[in-house]
Amino acid sequence: MAKRAASAKRSSASKQPAEKKSLQAQRFGAHMSVAGGLENAFDAAKLAGCDCLQIFVKNQKRWDAKPLTDDGIRRYKHAQTSTKIEPVVAHASYLINLGSPKDEQWKKSIDAVVDELERCEALGILGLVVHPGAHMGEGVDHGIGRIAAGIDEAHARTKGFGVRILLESTAGQGTSIGHEISQLGAILKRTKQPERIGICLDTCHLFAAGYDLRDTVAKWFRDCANTSG
Ligand SMILES: [Zn+2]
Repeated sequence: MAKRAASAKRSSASKQPAEKKSLQAQRFGAHMSVAGGLENAFDAAKLAGCDCLQIFVKNQKRWDAKPLTDDGIRRYKHAQTSTKIEPVVAHASYLINLGSPKDEQWKKSIDAVVDELERCEALGILGLVVHPGAHMGEGVDHGIGRIAAGIDEAHARTKGFGVRILLESTAGQGTSIGHEISQLGAILKRTKQPERIGICLDTCHLFAAGYDLRDTVAKWFRDCANTSG
């Protein structure tokens, strides 16, 4: 009985059109707690039925963090291999502001992005989700320039890394940049290595920024194609 079910499943899969197969590549995942160790997120994700995962690779509300240990990296990789949950992305600290006009905060933010990229690279994480930043009253154009320069600096310090920065769409609160897709596109255009950057769509932020996903998701992708390539 079980054998027959398995072969029936195989034969129906082989008849599926390409479009349906590509839908199967879609993955379900969630942000999971790393309390007690980064590796603990995998068991929580598995219990929830996830096949991909987002985590913090350090305390997201603090600048400093202990370095990863070889043993910690080993435990993380063992948990990932045994649960087969992939890809994993990390969400960067909320303190980071690459758009800051204040040099001290801007440099601290770059250091923090580099530190998180190094952690991600050591763990084999696909991407680091970063909020683009806030211009803090200096204007969108100035903020975009600071963000692009900050990313260039982070890239220069992480040459050869596989992990990508994933710029997240924002809701547009305060002076934050990234609620209009054209702003994300402008950042990409002003960086030296845009191929090392991806875009992360936060559907809640998109909705709050005026992209009504119930009927205008197409508008977002149109804006994306028109302004960001
Ligand atoms: Zn976020």
